[in-house]
Amino acid sequence: MNEGPEMSAATTILDLVAAGRDDAVAIAASGRPALTFAGLRRLAGDTVARLNRLGIGRNDAVAIVLPNGPEMAAAFVAVACGATTAPLNPGYRADEFDFYLGDLDARALIVERGSASPAIAVATARGVPIVELVADPSAPAGSFTLEGTAAAAPPAAAGPARPDDVALVLHTSGTTSRPKIVPLSHRNVCASARNIRVALALTASDRCLNIMPLFHIHGLIAAVLSSLGAGGSVFCTPGFNALRFFAQLAEARPTWYTAVPTMHQAILARAERNKEAIAANPLRLIRSSSASLPPQVMRALEETFGVPVIESYGMTEASHQMASNPLPPRPRKPGTVGVAAGPEVAIMEETGSAILPRGAIGEVVIRGANVTRGYAGNPEANAKGFADGWFRTGDQGVLDAEGYLTITGRLKELINRGGEKISPREVDEVLMDHPAVAQALTFSVPHDKLGEEVAAAVVLAEGATATEQDLKDFVSVRLADFKVPRKVVFLPEIPKGATGKLQRIGLAQRLGLAS
Ligand code: AMP
Repeated sequence: MNEGPEMSAATTILDLVAAGRDDAVAIAASGRPALTFAGLRRLAGDTVARLNRLGIGRNDAVAIVLPNGPEMAAAFVAVACGATTAPLNPGYRADEFDFYLGDLDARALIVERGSASPAIAVATARGVPIVELVADPSAPAGSFTLEGTAAAAPPAAAGPARPDDVALVLHTSGTTSRPKIVPLSHRNVCASARNIRVALALTASDRCLNIMPLFHIHGLIAAVLSSLGAGGSVFCTPGFNALRFFAQLAEARPTWYTAVPTMHQAILARAERNKEAIAANPLRLIRSSSASLPPQVMRALEETFGVPVIESYGMTEASHQMASNPLPPRPRKPGTVGVAAGPEVAIMEETGSAILPRGAIGEVVIRGANVTRGYAGNPEANAKGFADGWFRTGDQGVLDAEGYLTITGRLKELINRGGEKISPREVDEVLMDHPAVAQALTFSVPHDKLGEEVAAAVVLAEGATATEQDLKDFVSVRLADFKVPRKVVFLPEIPKGATGKLQRIGLAQRLGLAS
């Protein structure tokens, strides 16, 4: 498709979904009729009107707790057209929902009819109205109606969202125990969707098979919005399942998919016995992001599927994509995350004082239309997070002579468990609440498939006893499964770094857990 003026200029999600032909498929799912662009636009219009009648308008935060699938994709798009979407991980525990609903100042919680989510009791206790999403399984994939109690007064700002309204808020694991709120405007997310569309040369004939969670920036922007902005379609699965992947490939007939490296590895592990499905459903490309892709996995994927594997570098604060390896004929460089792909990308001296020349290692910084204007209600994080108009990613990297970026390390305290991000301090705080724990330090240990896994060093209180399992059980009541330490080591004292401070980085090596 040509780069029509209305396509390149979209600054709201409503404009962005104008890219598709009326009768073209926008959202598809297994065993369901597809939702066309005309249907999606109608759904967006109806949803904005409905939200307004419920007293919800532009920039009002609406928490969304839905299973992965076409309704989640459609609800993100349609709700964002008239309010601020805040998709939350359905795997969160009540404590986590309580924090998020309060922190977001949510004006409503959307759940599917019949949902048993702990978010409902939490919202009710907080006085947050519940809005039920009702889907008809015989209707086109993703279509829904919203049911809730009509409001006495109209919202402060009704009607369709504007470019600088907040389309999406997500939380990001920070160096503090409490995650930070990242507001992303329509302008931000549309710029990112466009950057991804350009990097992958997506057109109306492309179809993405979505296996990524839709409460994370990667799936929301790289799979859903980039496809819709190209006038193409997204086939929505209930989430990643290596056993179902090849059947989904055969049913969806996608031209590409995007995933985290652990998913690619699980797919590769089953590729040998699914050669026919691979041959019968050729792809155009495979994309990988959110954690580093081992070059061996990239090579094996390229050989197995016979298509280019495009590794990209993304981050919530950047509405996802920052850098990407280019499509052929330009070279892909395994082990790098490619070249700047939308925003400007530079390397800053780690104190934030100067931009460094190519070849020098420092902090990766970015600036561009896709980058958040700043964390909400957190001047301290904003003072630390931006320098000279650049956003500081907290990743350490180096640019080569051709502008390819290699991520060499991490300056921020974050554990990247196969793309799932964990703030170690959040886990420390929960462990410290256990009566037997005197001191706790959560850290990452290398893992062959996930890249990193969560571990914790614990000093027990004098005379107290607790087993590794006791502490894991204790954490799992309060935090989602992916944050629960897989290993707990008991120590008489936690080793300190040269400056006398407790140091998470390098702890795995010092404890002999790094091999
Ligand atoms: P998130 O906000 O969950 O998307 O996480 C962003 C972080 O994921 C980045 O700051 C990086 O630390 C990491 N990340 C994303 N993509 C890659 C990649 N291709 N290689 C290495 N790390 C990555």
